[in-house]
Amino acid sequence: MNLTKQALPHFENIQRSIFHTLNSLKSSLSQTQQAHAHILKTGVSNDSYLATKLLSQYANHQDFYDANQILSSTLDPTVFSYSALIFAYTKQNHFAQSLRVFTQMLSHGLAPDTHVLPNILKACTGLLALETGKQVHAMVFVYGFDLDSFVQGSLIHMYLKCQNIGNAHKVFDRLAQPDVVTFSALIAAYARYGCVGEAKKLFNEMGRVRVEPNVVSWNGMIAGFNQSGHCEEAALLFQRMHFEGFRPDDHSVSSVLSAVGDLENPKIGIQIHSFVIKEGLLEDKCVASSLIDMYGKCACTWNMSKVFHEMDNLDVGACNAFVTGLCRNGLIDNALEVFRQFQSQGVELNVVSWTSVIAGCSQNGKGIQALELFREMQAAGIKPNNVTIPCLLSACGSIAALMLGKAAHCFSIRRGISDGIYVSGALIDMYAKCGRIQMSRLCFDMMSSKNLVCWNAIMGGYAMHGKAKEALEIFHLMQKSGEKPSIISFICVLSACSQAGLTDEGCKIFDSMGKKHGIEARMEHYACMVTLLGRSGRLEEAYKMIERMPFEPDACVWGALLSSCRVHSNVNLAEVAAKNLFELEPANSGNYILLSNIYASKGMWIEVDAVRDIMKATGLRKSPGCSWIEVKNKVHMLLAGDESHPQMDQIMDKLNKLYMEMKESGYFPYTDFVLQDVEEQDKEQILCGHSEKLAVVLGLLNSPPGAPLQVIKNLRICVDCHAVIKFISSFERRDIFVRDTNRFHHFRDGVCSCGDYW
Ligand code: ZN
Ligand code: ZN
Repeated sequence: MNLTKQALPHFENIQRSIFHTLNSLKSSLSQTQQAHAHILKTGVSNDSYLATKLLSQYANHQDFYDANQILSSTLDPTVFSYSALIFAYTKQNHFAQSLRVFTQMLSHGLAPDTHVLPNILKACTGLLALETGKQVHAMVFVYGFDLDSFVQGSLIHMYLKCQNIGNAHKVFDRLAQPDVVTFSALIAAYARYGCVGEAKKLFNEMGRVRVEPNVVSWNGMIAGFNQSGHCEEAALLFQRMHFEGFRPDDHSVSSVLSAVGDLENPKIGIQIHSFVIKEGLLEDKCVASSLIDMYGKCACTWNMSKVFHEMDNLDVGACNAFVTGLCRNGLIDNALEVFRQFQSQGVELNVVSWTSVIAGCSQNGKGIQALELFREMQAAGIKPNNVTIPCLLSACGSIAALMLGKAAHCFSIRRGISDGIYVSGALIDMYAKCGRIQMSRLCFDMMSSKNLVCWNAIMGGYAMHGKAKEALEIFHLMQKSGEKPSIISFICVLSACSQAGLTDEGCKIFDSMGKKHGIEARMEHYACMVTLLGRSGRLEEAYKMIERMPFEPDACVWGALLSSCRVHSNVNLAEVAAKNLFELEPANSGNYILLSNIYASKGMWIEVDAVRDIMKATGLRKSPGCSWIEVKNKVHMLLAGDESHPQMDQIMDKLNKLYMEMKESGYFPYTDFVLQDVEEQDKEQILCGHSEKLAVVLGLLNSPPGAPLQVIKNLRICVDCHAVIKFISSFERRDIFVRDTNRFHHFRDGVCSCGDYW
């Protein structure tokens, strides 16, 4: 105001109303323009005071073009001129522009002040530009503003947002009088990064310097511990908060419920539930959703449904939590039903709703439904995000829908989310499962930063394809890059060794697990080792290893031994393995079938009959075989002996023709293995009915000559189908990929990549 009074005599020609316009916060853009015109007319437009006022008005109206024009035409702009523009840009989140103007200002030889610096730091925060932020920090020192509390606050905020907690703490230590807000922010950050000790220390420090913590301080710590996976700490803190007389609010309750869910501790969950009821917090939508989520994670589906159904209003967050909870507990059909109900009730379903139901289908073996839901989602105009795409890719992988997987890849590129770590990991996995391991490798190589999930995904891919050399190469590369191999990494690399028969290499790695990496071997690792030793015929050694295991072997381990016994026709050990398997999983018909196959291969027909009788007596049937093949962008599902497919007549016709060819060229069906289908009589006919063969023939009928085929089978491929597909690959000159539960079989020119061992 002083300035205005002094300036007035100088600008006698300018009307008072113009000054009013320039100084008022309420002036409109057109008033500003009028004032501008007037100033130009009176010829005082070079005055930096008026120019700054004008610039500031334009900037506040987001007319950045005119604001910049004025700045560049001002003869000698002041810090105020730049500051006005920087302030406006930062306020509108145009952070890069703020920094641009700041650079201009510095190159004009103007020093920043305590007004500009916080705005610039805010811009650095917005851009997460840590390096620039550090440069500004240096400037703060040089110009002596390092004890200005406003600047200090901005610096702390910038460092916290840029995840540089060390520097934030250094600035914090220089604060003359830290307040509860700054304390809480720093404590919450430590909790988020999982620095339990630091967070607690600082929290206690608060009491020492007589800063009273508030609910925000408690909540920040509880939420942070929950986020960093220190769930027990979060639960304990919630308890302490309550004991120390602070009333937990909706935020505290939501965070702690999420932590309790991760702890899978329904006892604590129920206690918090009654607290919620007592405090009347159930009305809060977030609290209700968190309760549903907690019960879902704790597998208390009854309580979960109760909370959901007792809600007065359908809230989309609660609906999503409910669907996720049902999926998590394997109740996928209920989840789908509930989802359809929400749709018909007009709940405004969002990307989270769609993603949770797609993920549920994908994880529960309903790949086709997942893809259909994704199409519906797009039709409904909901844009998928970087969580939806990995779920979709995993569904594509599970049913080898390569074309649809590729489409999802393109889609992620268009949406600019293809190089996120989750999407990349899912892409590697999808291409591997669709038989395109080179594409997996390409995706892997293109990643700028790799995490454990991606390393494991590519190794798992190589293992699935029986490419042990490549898997080992990745395994060494991983360690060289400083990434520590995890339990899963060892499963991948050991199973790769066992698929490819690298027995000695595998044994060495198994030994190194405990000795070099400090990882105790788990059940899965022993199962890999049994397969590894079994493959090379060292069955006795495999059996000794099982006997020496530090814990009770499970069905996977015995199953690995039984499978190896089939390959080497070892009846004695097969009987031992089978005896254990019958106890561990009495309802799994696969074990009976394997054992009877082993007897059959030795011509022990009495024993074969005995196994058959047991199966009959216990009512065990072979679990239905099922295969998938993608033909012309559509995934077909074929069941063993399935007559419902519209092209079934053609398929049978073609298959019979192929059989004629096979017989002529000396092929004889492996009818021994048809024992699997206990009650059937026409063995040859049954062989024709296996789903993987039907799928291969469907592919032959619907694709151009020479095109590769890709089939997924839900069970292990049988000996007969293996032989038939080998024949087809050479007779029809096709590359045929069959993925069974165990691995990939790549058939070409009458041989299979597995070397007839699976
Ligand atoms: Zn078969
Ligand atoms: Zn094979």
